[in-house]
Amino acid sequence: PLRSHCPADSEQLGRATWTFLHTAAAYYPATPSKEQQKQMLNLLRSLPTLYPCQHCAQHLGVEMQRRPPDVTGREGVSRWLCETHNEVNERLGKERFDCARVLERWRDGPADGSCD
Ligand code: FAD
Repeated sequence: PLRSHCPADSEQLGRATWTFLHTAAAYYPATPSKEQQKQMLNLLRSLPTLYPCQHCAQHLGVEMQRRPPDVTGREGVSRWLCETHNEVNERLGKERFDCARVLERWRDGPADGSCD
């Protein structure tokens, strides 16, 4: 049944949040200003307190302490998020994603034009 009128469960919330974060990273400047870097860092650092799945947020906080975000540019933040997402994938028994393809997945689309 269609449940899109229901409050988000943790899986829908996860998919929507990853979509937002990977897309924001993919459109973040290659060479951001100091101000843009500060704002990206603020966005990421707010997640361990604001992400509305308590145990997810807690894991993320630990992971961010261990591997601080790289906000120096599009490549760095996209890779950092990809690796962070892979850490969650691994913990949940899901497949790892090939981080070399993260901009193809979230910005450029596949070379065969199937997403154009
Ligand atoms: P998702 O994992 O949501 O991925 C969506 C799409 O992203 C995939 O279809 C794929 O195309 C692409 N993708 C997959 N891996 C990567 C990657 N490494 N880099 C780039 N793109 C990728 N759930 C829990 O049960 N426990 C948790 O502790 C937990 N922590 C979370 C922490 C955060 C910060 C977020 C945003 C979500 C968390 N979730 C957690 C939710 C979980 O990660 C999934 O979003 C959810 O289980 C739905 O999974 P899915 O298989 O639909 O795909």
